[in-house]
Amino acid sequence: MPPAVARLPRNSAGRPVPGNIAWYTPDDDGAILVARDTELGGHVTCPCTPGNGTPRFGEQCPVRQRELMAQRKCGLCTQAIKPTAELVFIGETDAPNYLEPALHPLCAAYALQVCPVLHAQGERIEVALVHSYTLAEDRITGIAADGTLRRSVFALGDVVAHHLAVLNFYLAIPDTPERLTGPTWLAQHAPKLTA
Ligand SMILES: [Zn+2]
Ligand SMILES: [Zn+2]
Repeated sequence: MPPAVARLPRNSAGRPVPGNIAWYTPDDDGAILVARDTELGGHVTCPCTPGNGTPRFGEQCPVRQRELMAQRKCGLCTQAIKPTAELVFIGETDAPNYLEPALHPLCAAYALQVCPVLHAQGERIEVALVHSYTLAEDRITGIAADGTLRRSVFALGDVVAHHLAVLNFYLAIPDTPERLTGPTWLAQHAPKLTA
């Protein structure tokens, strides 16, 4: 386990909880909280604190997701990724963009080996290796009659979207990625985790 991952808060089973994951406390009613400021326009906010309550794997905290994405920090260990260093995105084959923040190569190797969801998908998981990415905005534009959120992708800083839609997450568009299947990358290129 990478040292910065070992320092993350754990779930009840003792597993480190990635820095982008949302935490719930018993008094949380699940409502979407919306705030507004001049920098982001309308945006989803979240009061959760890592280590406080119960983590919900598979669900990202919008506040921390945006911070990790905007500051080039690792979605697992939350530490900065050096401007010159390689970044790893994990996703589906030929994904045009990513909702999950980039990872350090060592953190990506760890996640591919221990995360049951990623592990189960085997060859269907692809890694995209890049040195940089461009941000776009995933904003909520309305709510359908059945309660599902309508969402659209906008360019970063789109002035109209800033006024009319609510920022939920950032999307990362990888710049000229090299793509490999997860198992191939792990076997041939990934940094080796020492036991
Ligand atoms: Zn949160
Ligand atoms: Zn990391």
